[in-house]
Amino acid sequence: MCKRLAICFFLLVFMSSCSVKKKEKFDLIILNAQIIDVENNKVSSGKLIGINKDTIQLIADMIQSNNYESDNIIEANNKFIMPGLWDNHVHFRGGDSLIQENKNLLPLYLTYGITTIRDAGGDITPAVINWRNQINSGNLDGPNIFTSGPKLDGSKPAWEGSIKVENIDDVPYALDSLQAIEVDYVKMYDGSLSKEMFYKIIEEAQIRGLKTTGHMPLTANILDAVEHGLDGSEHLYYVLKACSPKADSLSKLNINYGMISTLVDTYDSKLAEKVYKNLAKNKVFITPTLYIGHVLAGLLETDHSNDSLLIYMGAGIQKTYQRRINAAKKAKTASNDSRSKTEKMFSKMVLPMQNAGVNLMAGSDCGAYNSFVYPGESLHSELKHLVMAGLSPQQALITSFINGPKFFNLQEHYGSVSSGKVADLILLDKNPLENIENLSSINIVLTKGTVYEKSALNNMLRKSKQNEN
Ligand SMILES: [Zn+2]
Repeated sequence: MCKRLAICFFLLVFMSSCSVKKKEKFDLIILNAQIIDVENNKVSSGKLIGINKDTIQLIADMIQSNNYESDNIIEANNKFIMPGLWDNHVHFRGGDSLIQENKNLLPLYLTYGITTIRDAGGDITPAVINWRNQINSGNLDGPNIFTSGPKLDGSKPAWEGSIKVENIDDVPYALDSLQAIEVDYVKMYDGSLSKEMFYKIIEEAQIRGLKTTGHMPLTANILDAVEHGLDGSEHLYYVLKACSPKADSLSKLNINYGMISTLVDTYDSKLAEKVYKNLAKNKVFITPTLYIGHVLAGLLETDHSNDSLLIYMGAGIQKTYQRRINAAKKAKTASNDSRSKTEKMFSKMVLPMQNAGVNLMAGSDCGAYNSFVYPGESLHSELKHLVMAGLSPQQALITSFINGPKFFNLQEHYGSVSSGKVADLILLDKNPLENIENLSSINIVLTKGTVYEKSALNNMLRKSKQNEN
């Protein structure tokens, strides 16, 4: 009897201790989420996500929801949660007078679910670095920014604000100045950079642990550059060059981009396969920028005056669009034809590169001067173009928020909705793994511990438009 009583007593104490068991508290809890696992092309439903500050702390089944609490709850109602998008090639530029107009573009990225951007060089670096710090400390609404700072170019740089590298002695000086402002990687440009300096920058940057990417002087060879340690290449001209057996003889003619049309005509798919395997083996990151190629090829035939996003571009930025329009007008019809032939070729190169295992990165190339390629929307368009080129929606999404972090060796922190990763998340009504067009169903964006509902995103946009006027 006594023993029985003791057991009952023990059970009572045990049960009461269970009932007062303290619930684990989070800054934010998302309930009833369908988590999109892009890497494995899977969706798991009925999930709870616990977030503290900007880190995902817990993924649990809804059946355990009684164990957790928060003052901030998002009821996902079985909608889809996925990592925020990365646009891996954007620009802030146009000189000091356009700093505010560039800054006004930051909310546009968030509106389209882009929580990280890789700035590929411009002439307002101090402002960009200032925004980066303010965003990181939660004092400015915008995506995470990784920046190359000023581009490295030769004696006659193509773009304002570039650092000139004319001889061997300039290389350490240029890299010192980039490191002094804490850039995230090095972007090279081929306005007048020599082949020798191009290789030298790559070597020296590698010693310093800096990643290199960019344009390439057409006298150089991308596979040689890879041997020197090149980490990435922007646009597909330089990969294309390596895929033509005529490339070497064309290089000697000093015709620069005049060789592109012949490179397209002499593209050799067997040679290309070898090139792509080499790029894959050496883990080189290639950013095709297909969509901007499409926009620029049709620049004169397309009426952009009613584009819904044009109103978010400041008057100064709209003015910069004229440079490419004038250039297109000056170019002969033949060169316009060649441009669209080249764009078709680039599109054709994407799937074999993917199949060979090349790390492709989605980048829109949006920003001032790049006419009618609007921040935010242009990354969605780039992903659609990658799908049109033959990638599955899963493969296209990988080029954005899985390969983007990989370029910076940050794959441990980004790329999936899992415990320990950064809580840069988007909530969508529809699953983009099924159809990439479903990216248009983004409802909530979460970054730096802030939840942006659709109305908040729209308000931010409205405000940024008012700032300009
Ligand atoms: Zn660019």
